Amino acid sequence: MRAETIAVGSELLLGQISNTNAQIISRALQEIGVDVYYHTCVGDNEERIKQVFKIALERSDVIIFTGGLGPTLDDLTKETVSSFLNLPLQLDEPSLERIKDYFKKKGKPMTQNNYKQALLPEGSSPILNRKGTAPGVLLKYGEKIIIMLPGPPFEMEPMLTESVIPYLAKSSQNTIFSRVLKFYEIGESLLEEKIKDLIVGQSNPTIAPLAKMGEVTLRITAKAEDIETARNLIRPVEEEIVKRVGQYLYGFDNESIEEIVAGLLLTSKKSISIAESCTGGLMAHKLTNIPGISEVFERGVVSYSNRAKQELLNVKAETLGEYGAVSEQTAMEMAQGIRITANTDIGVSITGIAGPGGGSPEKPVGLVYIGYADSKTVIVEKHLFTGDRMDIKQRSVDAALHMVRR
Ligand code: ATP
Ligand code: MG
Repeated sequence: MRAETIAVGSELLLGQISNTNAQIISRALQEIGVDVYYHTCVGDNEERIKQVFKIALERSDVIIFTGGLGPTLDDLTKETVSSFLNLPLQLDEPSLERIKDYFKKKGKPMTQNNYKQALLPEGSSPILNRKGTAPGVLLKYGEKIIIMLPGPPFEMEPMLTESVIPYLAKSSQNTIFSRVLKFYEIGESLLEEKIKDLIVGQSNPTIAPLAKMGEVTLRITAKAEDIETARNLIRPVEEEIVKRVGQYLYGFDNESIEEIVAGLLLTSKKSISIAESCTGGLMAHKLTNIPGISEVFERGVVSYSNRAKQELLNVKAETLGEYGAVSEQTAMEMAQGIRITANTDIGVSITGIAGPGGGSPEKPVGLVYIGYADSKTVIVEKHLFTGDRMDIKQRSVDAALHMVRR
């Protein structure tokens, strides 16, 4: 089934509001396997609403209007659809009762123009609106399904999820199922190159790469009559991808790196402590977002100044003097220092230059050292991250979490 949305409202075209309704509708339709091919915005103008409706009828099976169901004269959606299809507006008694009731409950007088909201094109049925006065409209016109919903998102959204989506799901008989593979330390272009033939050759499932902040995800999406069939379509494709680039794969679906690391620490019963400089406690924050982490997370120290690094972590004054706070040596002593003072299995350290100031030719903004110490080894990784201050902090923490994962 092919669907499109038509958002009616001049304020959308004037840039006063964004068409967030289209986004919400698209997401919901995608989940039930209905393809959305177009989003249109049109002003409160009968002639232009007719034009876009005519085009939509030619190319789509499902047309979802939002907006223009209100009581005022500039609310034209039902009127336009009704006159274009030659289906006169008729009073829907139950809807009128509901509107009357709404005003009674609010203790407000009902004005004459509210009656207009109980008028529906002949042959259509109302869609219950629990949050406002205007009922939605569901109209089957030949093979076409025409739906009209009010503009305000807080009214539109419950109507969409409670009435429209279940109705369309039944008509579409399709489910969409996605599997997300998450990769680290492989760029988008290299990943794409390694699986290009799969991406090009597939239509069901489809494979879509997405790069964000140092990681790449692949979304494999299949469409089928039920979830089990969709899963079976995805499985061989996933196996082939894992065969080719499995060494970079670290997680699936919504799993975050901190959840994965927390899971590993909890199952191996390894305790951890963290000494952070430029990330200011962000790694501790991320780990402590995971419920149950107290079993293994002992402490995090924000050792921002040189004095803090000496007093709290026993970093040597000579090390700081000779190599500076942002250096392999300091990162190493910080990791060992926190591990020993906190008495944990693992000690992690992060020290770097998050910018925008403070960089130099030898030590540019984005230079970050990450230390990892356990009972057997101490390792320090040197990174050069790009981005603004928050990006660099974020990437540093991700890199540190991945270091613990390995
Ligand atoms: P009302 O009874 O409130 O007049 P309506 O169905 O006539 O409802 P509109 O008059 O078109 O809807 O829009 C009412 C309000 O809903 C807008 O001022 C805006 O805040 C919000 N709105 C309308 N369309 C959209 C949209 N496409 N995306 C997000 N918000 C919208
Ligand atoms: Mg209105």
